[in-house]
Amino acid sequence: MTTDRKKILSGMRPTGRLHLGNYVGALKTWVDLQDRYDCFFMVADWHAMTSEYADPSLLPGNMRDMLLDWFAAGIDPMRSVVFIQSLVKEHAELSLLLGMFTPVSWLERCPTYKDQIVQLANKEIETHGFLGYPVLQAADILIYKADIVPVGEDQLAHLEITREIARRVNFLHGGPIEQVTNRPLNPIFPEPEPWLSSTPKLFGFDGRKMSKSYNNAIYLTDSPDEVTRKTKQMITDPARVRRTDPGDPSKCNVFDYHQLFTHDKAEEMGVQCRKAGIGCIDCKKTLANSINNLFDPMRERRASLADKPGALEEIAEDGCARARAAAQNTMRILRGRLSMPEGVSFLGKPS
Ligand code: SF4
Repeated sequence: MTTDRKKILSGMRPTGRLHLGNYVGALKTWVDLQDRYDCFFMVADWHAMTSEYADPSLLPGNMRDMLLDWFAAGIDPMRSVVFIQSLVKEHAELSLLLGMFTPVSWLERCPTYKDQIVQLANKEIETHGFLGYPVLQAADILIYKADIVPVGEDQLAHLEITREIARRVNFLHGGPIEQVTNRPLNPIFPEPEPWLSSTPKLFGFDGRKMSKSYNNAIYLTDSPDEVTRKTKQMITDPARVRRTDPGDPSKCNVFDYHQLFTHDKAEEMGVQCRKAGIGCIDCKKTLANSINNLFDPMRERRASLADKPGALEEIAEDGCARARAAAQNTMRILRGRLSMPEGVSFLGKPS
């Protein structure tokens, strides 16, 4: 991938089938970003290992399901580099080298570290790998010289560590320091900028946080009937008891969905709700149609991939090869700057 466009790196842990919350929270943004940037999208299986190392048996199936959802949703492997982190081993090499530059105190002060230790108390994650997770993340980003990283507010601290690591490597190995700017003249890595997206939060159809463990999500793989069944179960304005009662859409989960998926008709749904011009049953039917309209092209793309045995593997293999070529190029430059041998020929040089 050699264009003048800025580069973006983003990834997801392979958690399996994606739901509507994952779609509006990240995947839809990725699909849109492809038009403006050179995108690298990573299946972050090594990241998953930081917490799933005791039983990683579900990871292969989860990776497959997630990749299918990405392509079904419109991630285009011709335009974007889609790859599996652990199949581009240069990430591990760079992570190891960046670890040499990273003071432990930077990792220990990372606000998400202590937070995750508490949240994942049922897993033993006080490990070297978990503490060093931001270093691996820095390697993921810097190995492609990404200019921009889409992040949520909670990920800003991690990205700041990436920027600090890049700065430190550049300062030590980025050539002479320019006097006016006090920056190295020949930096190895760009300092990636955050791209903060305002992602709307979707609740599950039971009104709680959307989560696999609550079994309250609408999945991108759900059939039209499943979508209809789940929308029927959605919690509405609790004060609207009878069909003739006016409703308050701002207190209704269904209306939150309408605003995201029913587009230009959403406002009218709200107006009709307020004057009891529409009943909740019909309102939910409209929502089910809106979601199914969104899913129909995804269903077609998924079916066409499923019809071609080996197609998914072929696409993933091609993406890994393209990622590997870019990663190897960065490592060749870095190893040169760090006086590390590319082969045994250096042994022949007189000292
Ligand atoms: S009419 Fe629609 S928006 Fe209004 S309360 Fe019923 S489901 Fe919610």
